[in-house]
Amino acid sequence: MTNTADVVIIGGGIVAASVAYHLAERGCTNVLIVEREDRQGMGSTAKSMGGVRAQFATSINIRMSLYSIDLFSKFEEVTGHTAGYTPQGYMFVATSERHLDYLKTNMLQQRACGLTNVEMVTREDILKTVPQLVADDVVGGSFCPTDGFVDPYSVMTGFSKRARACGVSLWLETEVTGIDVKQGAVAGVQTSRGYISTRAVVNAAGPWAASVARLAAVDVPVEPLRRQIVKTEPFEQLSSRLPMVIDMSTGFHFRPEGPSYLLAWPDPDETYGFRTDFDYGFIEKILTRAVSRVPVFADVEVNPRRCWAGMYEVTPDHHAIIGRAPGVEGMFLANGFSGHGVMHSPATGKIVSELILDGVSSFVDAEMLRAERFAEGNPLEETAVL
Ligand SMILES: Cc1cc2nc3c(=O)[nH]c(=O)nc-3n(C[C@H](O)[C@H](O)[C@H](O)COP(=O)(O)OP(=O)(O)OC[C@H]3O[C@@H](n4cnc5c(N)ncnc54)[C@H](O)[C@@H]3O)c2cc1C
Repeated sequence: MTNTADVVIIGGGIVAASVAYHLAERGCTNVLIVEREDRQGMGSTAKSMGGVRAQFATSINIRMSLYSIDLFSKFEEVTGHTAGYTPQGYMFVATSERHLDYLKTNMLQQRACGLTNVEMVTREDILKTVPQLVADDVVGGSFCPTDGFVDPYSVMTGFSKRARACGVSLWLETEVTGIDVKQGAVAGVQTSRGYISTRAVVNAAGPWAASVARLAAVDVPVEPLRRQIVKTEPFEQLSSRLPMVIDMSTGFHFRPEGPSYLLAWPDPDETYGFRTDFDYGFIEKILTRAVSRVPVFADVEVNPRRCWAGMYEVTPDHHAIIGRAPGVEGMFLANGFSGHGVMHSPATGKIVSELILDGVSSFVDAEMLRAERFAEGNPLEETAVL
């Protein structure tokens, strides 16, 4: 028996689910999601901290966030499933004039893109929000109240359920082992469950994007990088209404998660590679940063078994690679989110579905995200990376 689909999506995480949802909303429902695990979300999606923000430095990232946050805010209405969107804001805390200038420049760019509620805040404003913060060296910051958090697993489930209700199929425990390219165009996909004829394939393989692209002899510069999250035991000395707070002096950031806190810090000692083991030594490293900025964290309890590690999918310029795969007609890339794949999943689904169905994106200049930008020497630079 030969299986056929109009579009095959490789990977079953949040990005695949959003692409499927956006295709289905446009009436394109002969779509097959192929996921090698026995459940969806076993890759980076379920490891995410769930942060969503429009406070970026580049217009493309800001515009992708505006579309995405708007969709998160009405997610239940459109998918019938909650996104767990909690608009408690992101507060960037600057300790140098250089960082403050950078936030001001970003704020002007964000406003120019249509983000009306982002504002600069003073040290006093910051202390009003987080009175427990050590602020002697703080010179100000920025805040946007519609930034916040979502539940990544729930978003993925909502997109998937809605897509499947429209007719999209999902194959679990099925690995894509080959991409059949004939005369420069996609003709089908080989899987552990057999061959699927198709003329369009989407690489949504998260940290494994480069190896999936290689199946079609396409080079996608995406590297996996371990990131670790420390979840505290319930902790009452800080409000559960706090925003995501980012200490720009160290990169340490934290946010409430129910009665607990999620703590994160980009460890500069991490190197690229497939690693998802949680390193217990990380707890002391991060608590040193946490306590120096918020001394009450000295009293927090951490159960290492409730902490975890996952992988960012990183590109050389920390921007996603979205668009047609160079040299292979019918192959589309949705990769390399560099820490922003949950928050940008709605926009990515919209862009990829439009590229497949219309050939062009209606709301961003998707050409900026083409894979060719690296070889052409035109990388973007997003410096507001967490
Ligand atoms: C610790 C941590 C914190 C994060 N925090 C945030 C945050 O606050 N905000 C944010 O926006 N993002 C965050 N991210 C990033 C975000 O989680 C990812 O960018 C996002 O989940 C990527 O989704 P995806 O669907 O592309 O990939 P994944 O969820 O990894 O899905 C890819 C899927 O492809 C499948 N697959 C791979 N190869 C094959 C194959 N050959 N055949 C079949 N299936 C295959 C895998 O099994 C996997 O399920 C964080 C990531 C980590 C690790």
